[in-house]
Amino acid sequence: MPGLRQWALAGLAACLLIGCSADKKSAGDPAADDHGTTNASHAAAGGHGSAHWSYAQQASWAVQSPEAAVCAAGKAQSPIALASEALVELPNLVGSYAPAEAAVFNNGHTIQINAAPGQTLNIGADVYQLVQAHFHAPSEHQLDGKIYPMEVHFVHKSESGKLAVLGALIDEGSENSQIAQIQAAIPKEQGENKAQPAAFDPVAMLPDDQTYFAYSGSLTTPPCSEGVRWSVLTRPITASAEQIAAFKKILGENARNLQDLHGREPILGS
Ligand SMILES: [Zn+2]
Repeated sequence: MPGLRQWALAGLAACLLIGCSADKKSAGDPAADDHGTTNASHAAAGGHGSAHWSYAQQASWAVQSPEAAVCAAGKAQSPIALASEALVELPNLVGSYAPAEAAVFNNGHTIQINAAPGQTLNIGADVYQLVQAHFHAPSEHQLDGKIYPMEVHFVHKSESGKLAVLGALIDEGSENSQIAQIQAAIPKEQGENKAQPAAFDPVAMLPDDQTYFAYSGSLTTPPCSEGVRWSVLTRPITASAEQIAAFKKILGENARNLQDLHGREPILGS
């Protein structure tokens, strides 16, 4: 594939919490939200971009639809608080991402970039296709008690429909040129049909550091479907204060509250 950029976040083999337990708790259609892929799945979820739910009233997410009951009743919800601990061996994260034109749009809850097909993330032996990336402000995951100004989620899907989300925290610092290109393309109107093209190089929104947290969680928007394989990088990327302010102006606050671990133990490794 021309222009392919390979990156690797090193680690060694271990199934641990993720993968092992992520697969057996899948509830509903995990694709049916902003972590999902298609218009059809959005429609099935009552419409992303609709005003049917809000970040201001998260307690009511569970009554949005029958499958969203897991928002309140689930025992493996996201986001969660992460805390540094001893490193263990985790599966390699190896991405094959290629810079390509992508569609940028505002779905009413986030700014989303639909990735061109053919980009993959391998976690150990498991292969996932990059579907889309989107932003939260402030960060949804917290690391050692710190809430970051933003967080970007790279949503991947396996051939069998399992989701893997790679999260990168965004701290205030140097301007990120890839974020600048995305911001320049954000349409004034909401809706996927108002998408604008932008050059999208996912690698430009990833840190070099190889350390990440792994845990089994959920979508962080209704219907909160579980069985999502989370990999959250511990080293943040940066965006300028102006870039962060520009996103916040559009997004408002679009972070779900922290969820109970219910006995889950996120694993930190590299
Ligand atoms: Zn997200």
